[in-house]
Amino acid sequence: MQSKSWLKAGLFAAIATAAFAATPARAQGSLVMYCGVQEEWCRAMSTAFEKETGIKVAMTRKSAGEIYAQLKAESSNPRGDIWWGGTGDPHLQAAEEGLTTEYESPANKDLNDWALNQWKAANKRTIGIYAGALGFGYNTEQIKAKGIPEPKCWADLLNAKLKDDVQVADPNSSGTAYNLLATVVQLMGEEKGFDYLKALHKNVSQYTKSGAAPAKAASLGETAVGIVFIHDAVVFAVQGDPIKPVAPCEGTGYEIGSMSIVKGARNLDNAKKFYDWALTPAAQALGAPAKSYQVPSNKNAPVPAQAPKMSEMKLINYDFVKYGSSAERNRLLAKWDKEVKALPK
Ligand code: PLP
Repeated sequence: MQSKSWLKAGLFAAIATAAFAATPARAQGSLVMYCGVQEEWCRAMSTAFEKETGIKVAMTRKSAGEIYAQLKAESSNPRGDIWWGGTGDPHLQAAEEGLTTEYESPANKDLNDWALNQWKAANKRTIGIYAGALGFGYNTEQIKAKGIPEPKCWADLLNAKLKDDVQVADPNSSGTAYNLLATVVQLMGEEKGFDYLKALHKNVSQYTKSGAAPAKAASLGETAVGIVFIHDAVVFAVQGDPIKPVAPCEGTGYEIGSMSIVKGARNLDNAKKFYDWALTPAAQALGAPAKSYQVPSNKNAPVPAQAPKMSEMKLINYDFVKYGSSAERNRLLAKWDKEVKALPK
């Protein structure tokens, strides 16, 4: 009898242990992640973090402008915990508007200056996780068929033979497209920059929601040119598609992809755990296998062999503080809506 009840107790304990082991995620709590890069990299990050910590991640992928708008809409009742990825400008705007919160990670000491500069400019409310330059990709077969020279410069995209054959995203939703808007304003001056965007409008067949979509369209020959981050065109070039990535001859802008913790995060401790982990070389090395070829912010993380060589490009001195400020970003987007998007073709 005695041995039987011992057996029962032992069995109960074994079942309880097994049940506990089978649900480590619940035991460790959860994390709501808003992810701003490509779906494949978002999934690789959330899965690896879950595996390593047992913290259950609820991840959604959206474009940078959309995540910013969502944080703003949810600010009185925050639902997200961590915003990982996407261009730095909307992260900086969210920091200024108090939608995200301060944090200092022990991993800061291992980061490149360009990543820490974002953090300093934002009073510790956002930090750089990768960098990548803006440019375009063109479909080599389509360009050949049109009998025009291969485009090498921003100016080449105004060729009348490219009418309705250029794709770029809408800067309201897409961080990539806002980066283009801020880049041409800095590169050409505001008046000439807007003249350029108005002329480009004639050739744009559609403004997509997501920034990288035009790279895929160009790789498939659905458009002759896609204006994208160069690394987004490289993805298709390395798999053998007829797309050529270009760093424009006049010079170009770049992004500092960023990460921020949501103000009022319900799972703040888990958000900090993710933040520290996402800055490690091991986590940053997950980009390349997920076909994302940006330059990582941790000095000890491997730079993917396919990453475009930013040191060989003519990069502008992108003013992240100015173009990530709430007033400037709102002003430029409203001006673009009124003076460019509303134009007839
Ligand atoms: N895809 C990649 C690989 C990126 O690095 C980024 C920006 O950080 C984006 C897409 C931007 O997405 P979107 O322009 O849709 O905000």
